[in-house]
Amino acid sequence: MTQLYEPLNWFGTYYRVIQKNFIDMEKLLELFDEPIEVQDLPAPEPLEVNRGEVVFDNVSFSYDSQPTLQNISFKVPAGSTVALVGPSGSGKSTILRLLFRFYDVQAGRILIDGPGHPQCAADTVLFNDSIRYNIAYGRAGSGFSPGVSMHDVINAADAAKVHDKIMAFPENACPGGEKQRVAIARYPAQRPEDCVPSLHEMTQNRTTLIIAHRLSTIVHADQIMIVSGGKILFGDRKSLYYDMWMKQIADTKQGPTDQEESDHP
Ligand code: ATP
Repeated sequence: MTQLYEPLNWFGTYYRVIQKNFIDMEKLLELFDEPIEVQDLPAPEPLEVNRGEVVFDNVSFSYDSQPTLQNISFKVPAGSTVALVGPSGSGKSTILRLLFRFYDVQAGRILIDGPGHPQCAADTVLFNDSIRYNIAYGRAGSGFSPGVSMHDVINAADAAKVHDKIMAFPENACPGGEKQRVAIARYPAQRPEDCVPSLHEMTQNRTTLIIAHRLSTIVHADQIMIVSGGKILFGDRKSLYYDMWMKQIADTKQGPTDQEESDHP
C-alpha cells in the first residue's frame, strides 16, 4: 500500500482506513496478500514521500492480452481523498496494485511527489529485529518507541490482521508476505487512539485513495473517479457522472446505505 520509506507518511494514508467498519480496507489488505512481481534495480533508491501527491500519467496495463487499464491519467493532490467507483472488474483494484507497485506499468508513469525516483524500491522496509520492534517503530525519524506497550502492539497487529500469523511464525521471524501488514500495523501501535474516528476524520490532510462501495464513503471524497472498462470517465465530483452515481445509489434498494455501513462488522 502503503513507498514505505517514510513508512508512516505513506502507510499512514492507508492504514488510517483500517477499522472493522471499513470493508474498503479489507479489500486493500487483500492486495497485500498478492505476490510482488516487480524486480528492483540492484540498489534501488528508497521512495521519499513528503507531500503525498499521486499522479497517474497515461498509464496502461494488462495482466494478459486484454488491456486492463488504458491510458489512465489522474492526479490526487496531496492530502485529498479520491473515491474510486465503478463496476466489478473495471480496474479499480488494479490502480491500487500499480500504485503499490505490485506490478510495473507497461506504459505511462506513476509519480509520487513528482518524478524523483522512478525506480525506487518496491519492498517494505522492516528492520532485522523482532516483529514487536518493527510494529513499535515510530514515525519516520522518530525511531523505536519503548513507550508503546505490548498491548498496543498486539492490538495494532490485530487491526492489521497480522497478529494470528505472527503468532504462528517460528521465533518471531517475518515471512515476506506478511511484511506489509507488519508495516501498516506500525501506525495504530503509535496512535491507538486514532483507530476510532470516522473515515472522514481519518483521511483529513492525508492523501487517500478508496475503493468505495457505499454512499457514506463517497460523500466526503474530494474527487470521485468512475472507473469503467479500464478507463477513467471523469474526476469531478460535481460532474454529471457524480450526480448519476449518487442518484443510482439513492434510487436502488440494493444500493448500500449509511445504516448498512455502520452495521457492517
Ligand atoms: P471489483 O470491484 O470486482 O474488485 P475491480 O474494478 O477492482 O473489480 P480489478 O480487480 O482491477 O477490477 O480487475 C480488472 C480486470 O483485470 C478484470 O477483468 C479482472 O478479471 C482482471 N484481473 C484482475 N486481476 C487479474 C490477474 N491477477 N490476472 C489476470 N487478470 C486479472
